[in-house]
Amino acid sequence: MFRPEKILIEKDAAENAQPFLVALPTAAVEYAESARGAGPRTLLLKNLKGAALKPFRTGGSDCAGGVEFAVRHALGCPYDCTYCYLQTYDDTSVPTVFINRKEILEEIDNFIGSHDEPAMLLAGHLSETLPLMAYDNFLAELCGLVRRFPKHALEVRTKGTDVGVYEGIEPAENIIPSWTLSPEAHRKKYERGTPSIEKRLEAMAKLQAGGWSVGVRLDPVVRDDAWEDAYRELIEKIFSVLDAEKIRDIHIGALRYVSELGDIIRARDPESPLALGEQFLSPDGKVKYARPLRIEMYRRLISRINARAKVVVVMEPPEVIEEVFK
Ligand code: SF4
Repeated sequence: MFRPEKILIEKDAAENAQPFLVALPTAAVEYAESARGAGPRTLLLKNLKGAALKPFRTGGSDCAGGVEFAVRHALGCPYDCTYCYLQTYDDTSVPTVFINRKEILEEIDNFIGSHDEPAMLLAGHLSETLPLMAYDNFLAELCGLVRRFPKHALEVRTKGTDVGVYEGIEPAENIIPSWTLSPEAHRKKYERGTPSIEKRLEAMAKLQAGGWSVGVRLDPVVRDDAWEDAYRELIEKIFSVLDAEKIRDIHIGALRYVSELGDIIRARDPESPLALGEQFLSPDGKVKYARPLRIEMYRRLISRINARAKVVVVMEPPEVIEEVFK
């Protein structure tokens, strides 16, 4: 669990803060007009101003229609991944939870209740999930809501291990708890502050034992010198710890980033393998490995997975996906 030393509450959100004050009794509490002055290990609580769902595109939805929306329950993250695209967003330096939960849930309810096309709601694409959901019952309420609409689905993606948040929530076909996994050596290099891969797998196995099917997200796949061996080991580890029957699917997506994030990565470490190698600016404005390299990476990973779970290639144009599976 992310244990902030200080909770900063925007004054107009104070009436919604009670569950967080109870869950974090030892944190210093400060009320302010804005997040200015927040230091490290601060959690900012504020009301969401604006829409609770934001159109998003991963191309990974297995929901017919593939319409995807990010759930804006929080912003930012207590972890510090070098490749995190949130570094290019404003206002993400302090992990923030939007605490006007009632309005957020009502808006989501109204939206999906009247949305004909199946939609995939993505929690964990503009913020972390479990470490920031560990203080109140938002996840239970969100799951309860989505469960009522079987044609829609919810993915809750994390690198966290706070699976106690799922306690009391009945598994549902249209709710997918998912974890981003990387080789442990990559985690150590590029995912500062995150739980180890072993701990994440333990958390996933625990949920599987409780009846859940989980999603595995190998995204971003980083191609450095030892990438192939590292991913081979990771894939074998996944299948030695998890029940393959209860893996919903495995998404794979090669590292990509906007130029601005490349500048941030190089400023943090000019020699970072993340921004080196055969990478090119793609027509969609993202820097990616050369297309033949990406296709080779996907094919090798798919062959390692060896049909033990369904594989979805994400964030690629249809012609690349077609070529991968040819
Ligand atoms: S866990 Fe996700 S949201 Fe958090 S820093 Fe890493 S990539 Fe960003």
